[in-house]
Amino acid sequence: MGSVDIQNVSKAFRSRRTNVVAVDGLSLTAADGEFLVLVGPSGCGKSTTLRVVAGLESPDAGTICIGGRDVTRVSPKDRDVAMVFQNYALYPHMTVYKNMAFGLKMRKTPKVEIDRQVRETAELMGLTDLLDRRPGELSGGEQQRVAVGRAIVRKPNVFLFDEPLSNLDAKLRLELRAQIKALHRRLQTTILYVTHDQQEAMALGDRVAVMNEGRACQVGAPQEIYDWPDDRFVGEFVGAPTMNMIRGRIERDGDGVVFDGDFGRWVLAGEHARALEGFENCAVELGVRANDVRLGGDGSMAGVGTVFLVESLGDCLHVHVRSANGATVVLRTGSDVQVAVEQDVSIVVDGVHAHFFAGDDEGRRLC
Ligand code: ADP
Ligand code: MG
Repeated sequence: MGSVDIQNVSKAFRSRRTNVVAVDGLSLTAADGEFLVLVGPSGCGKSTTLRVVAGLESPDAGTICIGGRDVTRVSPKDRDVAMVFQNYALYPHMTVYKNMAFGLKMRKTPKVEIDRQVRETAELMGLTDLLDRRPGELSGGEQQRVAVGRAIVRKPNVFLFDEPLSNLDAKLRLELRAQIKALHRRLQTTILYVTHDQQEAMALGDRVAVMNEGRACQVGAPQEIYDWPDDRFVGEFVGAPTMNMIRGRIERDGDGVVFDGDFGRWVLAGEHARALEGFENCAVELGVRANDVRLGGDGSMAGVGTVFLVESLGDCLHVHVRSANGATVVLRTGSDVQVAVEQDVSIVVDGVHAHFFAGDDEGRRLC
């Protein structure tokens, strides 16, 4: 059993000059066999969380259970977890074979058994031809495959990955990402995987935990987080280009509920009108993805602006539009659309896929 249960964990780093709360009352559970990704901006506490689970840091408060056993005070080597780091951390003077065999040797596994497991794992990771080389004779991608191989050869209950792909170039990153996903499907071992890359998180995770300032803002399936962000931070962090936020106020107009925002005065319909009825005079932000804003056409949420940037990405265009009051939106459109900088355009927001967030610091989703 390899479930990981993080309960109310806090960890601060204090010295004479600094007092950083790295993890702030974090609770998070990965089910046995689950691939759970922790994603968030640099400095939000991802690595510290992973190091607490591994036992490399001890928490100031809270507990860690692995497979139902409280391991908060258990030493790293007795937790049955294997960690893979961004910088590979291979032993430079040892061959690939010896790097992979090292953990088993430490556990006094019989030689024949070590040989069998190393070769089996090398086969799985495509490392068979590299077993006699040293890390210095390998590319970055190969080194990281060895690091992953070294972790899985021990058959731990839980894998901990800390940004394992960050040092690789874009193409290799995608290749190894697919390989790690396939590996998980095959081994079905619990994985806690840390990345700052939201796309990587979405691609890999059974579930994704979006972290900010030492806490989990939202935990859910990738699509759920993308479609229904709990707050503005999650909405803006997940998805590229970042979710547009159109500022405005909710007003009453006779029987109607109106959003008076940067790109126009829009009478709200259906679910939005019902949910925002009580928010008269409140500042809100309308969150909408680039995919859900169109150039031209009719709709109840239409406005005008001026194009100030067009990015051609091959399969689509990102068109950046500025309103009269200086607010901006980015929309995605087909690469065959004729549109130029300084052109005046009308935009239409697809209300079905738009959300309203509170205009305060917390920015909870209202609907
Ligand atoms: P992430 O992995 O999400 O980038 P970290 O967990 O590494 O974030 O760090 C969280 C915060 O804790 C950061 O502000 C970082 O500077 C601080 N921090 C991490 N490790 C230490 C340490 N050993 N000493 C002091 N501060 C630390
Ligand atoms: Mg980190």
